Amino acid sequence: MDLTYTPGQQAFRADVRAWMAANVPAHKLKSYDTREGFEEHRAWERTLNEGRYAMITWPEILGGRGANLIEWLIFEEEYYRAGAPGRVNQNGIFLLGPTLMEYGTPEQKARFLPRMAAGEDIWAQGWSEPGAGSDMAAIRTKAVRDGDHYVINGQKTWSTRAAFADWCFGLFRTDPNSERHHGMSFILLPLDTPGITRRPIPQLDGEPGFAELFFDDVRVPVENRLGGEGEGWNIAMATAGFERGLMLRSPARFQETAKRLVTLYRRHQAKVSPAVGEAVLKAWMDAEAYCLNTYMTASRLMAGGKIGQEASLNKIFWSELDRSMHETALSILGARAELLANGVDDPDEATRWLKGFLFSLAGPIYAGTNEIQRNVIAERLLKLPR
Ligand SMILES: Cc1cc2nc3c(=O)[nH]c(=O)nc-3n(C[C@H](O)[C@H](O)[C@H](O)COP(=O)(O)OP(=O)(O)OC[C@H]3O[C@@H](n4cnc5c(N)ncnc54)[C@H](O)[C@@H]3O)c2cc1C
Repeated sequence: MDLTYTPGQQAFRADVRAWMAANVPAHKLKSYDTREGFEEHRAWERTLNEGRYAMITWPEILGGRGANLIEWLIFEEEYYRAGAPGRVNQNGIFLLGPTLMEYGTPEQKARFLPRMAAGEDIWAQGWSEPGAGSDMAAIRTKAVRDGDHYVINGQKTWSTRAAFADWCFGLFRTDPNSERHHGMSFILLPLDTPGITRRPIPQLDGEPGFAELFFDDVRVPVENRLGGEGEGWNIAMATAGFERGLMLRSPARFQETAKRLVTLYRRHQAKVSPAVGEAVLKAWMDAEAYCLNTYMTASRLMAGGKIGQEASLNKIFWSELDRSMHETALSILGARAELLANGVDDPDEATRWLKGFLFSLAGPIYAGTNEIQRNVIAERLLKLPR
């Protein structure tokens, strides 16, 4: 791993910085968990695509720049530095995109990836069910073959962005007699297909960040299956690897939070205990360590390696770091945080810290709970007995 940037990488950084300066919206977009904000963020995805910045690692013909993972990390650093809007299509761009790249047919890549890059299709993820969260092998929603279609019946839940999304990728039991990890397939379906009912679920802040999805005799063409019939589990594990191990939470996000935390601390330093200073320092160092570790993962992948079970270590690290940074910020702001949380006269960004704190509480749950990641580490990395 070489930690010096090449002249080409430095030039790329300068290009991204200039493009962001010219294109990032001057006003803050509304939350993408509202209908209006969702469409504002879709328009931003379109703008990114026009600059060919929607997903730079994809081949040019599919809307990318054929960039490598180090360039992607540089892009992310500039993205967060510029304060660019959150990615409403993160399920598509960061999770399904790499999975399609690995398992999709050439037709599927050409059909789905350019539309995803352009924000024409915003994706939701349909894995969890009421009886299958941590224990995803307990999925019961069935997709029964009927000629050149599957007929889907059942229910998904906690599907992020599904209140407004256009498409969903999910795991469905295509062999009705199968058990556990066997007999599941990875299927892509438009959310306006007849027979689908979506019921939005409000988050802690009241906005519908998720939805339940109900399927009643929903017909989906067989060509919408990704990979072979019954291979869904292995494909989903690859998607989860991208989610936990690299793409979903790039280090730049946490480094920017650490910078904001230092600014907040400096403003209130005289009033807070030395222990808070220690926590701020630790947050900064952890964000830097996470960044270096991600550069190492990227280098390993570029040399032909796989994400592997280390993704579980990674997921625990970023989710706990995010939560502890927000807790430290709230301990600096104290009770004032809630008083200031209407966005008026808010130089400390109390509203943002509060919202970020609420979301950070979900970090140890989504993308596989941290308890389950600890089980994975114990059994598969440390080879401890069950
Ligand atoms: C913000 C957010 C976004 C999400 N987005 C999506 C999405 O887009 N699509 C989707 O399909 N799902 C999504 N989920 C759902 C998420 O994947 C599940 O919440 C998660 O897998 C846990 O499942 P569960 O909620 O059913 O909890 P359970 O599985 O019932 O677990 C309850 C508790 O028991 C613990 N536990 C369970 N089994 C074990 C075990 N074997 N060993 C030790 N502890 C155990 C868990 O760690 C947890 O603390 C999202 C969740 C959140 C919070």
